[in-house]
Amino acid sequence: MSGFGFPKTPTPQETAGLAWAARLEEEARRFLDSPRNAIGGRFSEKAFDYPIFGYASAADPLWTQVLNHGAGMAHWPPLTAFLEGRAKIEPRAKLAWPSHADLTVVVFALPQTEATMADQRRAKAEPAERWLRSRFAHDRVIGELTEHLRVFLESQGVEASVPESARTWKSFPHPDFQITSMWSHRHAAFVTGLGTFGLSDGLITKIGKAHRLGSLVCRLRIPPTPRAYAGPYDHCLHFAGRKCGVCVRRCPAGALSLEGGHDKTLCQNYLNFVGAQVHKYGPFDIRGAYGCGLCQSAVPCERGLPAGLPEDLRQRGVRTADWLAVHAELQREAWATARQKEDDEARRKAAGKRRKKPAADKKAPAKPAASPAKTTKTAPKTATP
Ligand code: SF4
Ligand code: SF4
Repeated sequence: MSGFGFPKTPTPQETAGLAWAARLEEEARRFLDSPRNAIGGRFSEKAFDYPIFGYASAADPLWTQVLNHGAGMAHWPPLTAFLEGRAKIEPRAKLAWPSHADLTVVVFALPQTEATMADQRRAKAEPAERWLRSRFAHDRVIGELTEHLRVFLESQGVEASVPESARTWKSFPHPDFQITSMWSHRHAAFVTGLGTFGLSDGLITKIGKAHRLGSLVCRLRIPPTPRAYAGPYDHCLHFAGRKCGVCVRRCPAGALSLEGGHDKTLCQNYLNFVGAQVHKYGPFDIRGAYGCGLCQSAVPCERGLPAGLPEDLRQRGVRTADWLAVHAELQREAWATARQKEDDEARRKAAGKRRKKPAADKKAPAKPAASPAKTTKTAPKTATP
């Protein structure tokens, strides 16, 4: 616990905070040992293994940096997340207003089981059934686990809030990120010291990136988890200047590239395609399930930090703010190029259809007067993919 600014001998307040953390983690294990952590279907086994936890104060200045960047701008800061979640539990008027320093954000990463990973590693074109089942189970398991932890804290007199269960929480389309929401587990996980992002946007933690995240905000002062990294992509071999890109080769949808990173539109289209396949061909008891995750399996960052990272990431001296700015710029350029290509393609198709239109009109002599105006108006619509 030393070397990253954490004192060698914790103060009594820090010791109390660490004791809370230990109790929370114990409660999580108790929950995950129960039948509620079932993967379901024909498999009588648990959906997830025991999690790792990360903690950060709501007063950590990194929240401001992260929330001022890209998709982060859509997210609630921790204090807002706490208040919005609490609004469902007690009237705002009754709530003693907390300071940022009073609040701790707690994030956990639930690892996929070895059984799921063994199947998923063999998968090539579509995800393994166990992966689909754990994907399907994760909303329920994570929802119940966070609620279990919140109720546990409340029973001990500690106010806690689950941002995702707030009445005002919503997910919505984002021009650059497909879908985003009022609260991001992954951004919270980055701030709470759990890990950094990889080329495919998954969070690479010390247990790898084959996991599912959950989080809550509580009125407790738990010592923060040391962030053993300098920038948001430190745990990815590609961004560390090493040769990798295994996730690019694993992606069946062409949604990953070394130059452009993660194309969320292609990825989402593939997830929808898998969902349609499940709906059509089964397993029928998980209709509505979808997923992929091939980029999270059979890759060097699957079950831990990839071998070959620089020895001491902190010595690289790159500040998070610089990384965020540079990467945002690179992403903007990559997306602008991709969009330009799509627009050019759409224009080419539209022009092709317009050229064919007069021939079609000849076959419909009954409406000669209306066709020029109609052709101009409807052509772009039919050309839209
Ligand atoms: S497989 Fe390699 S390039 Fe892809 S996220 Fe993992 S470390 Fe980065
Ligand atoms: S989830 Fe699947 S489609 Fe999306 S980037 Fe990963 S491998 Fe590609």
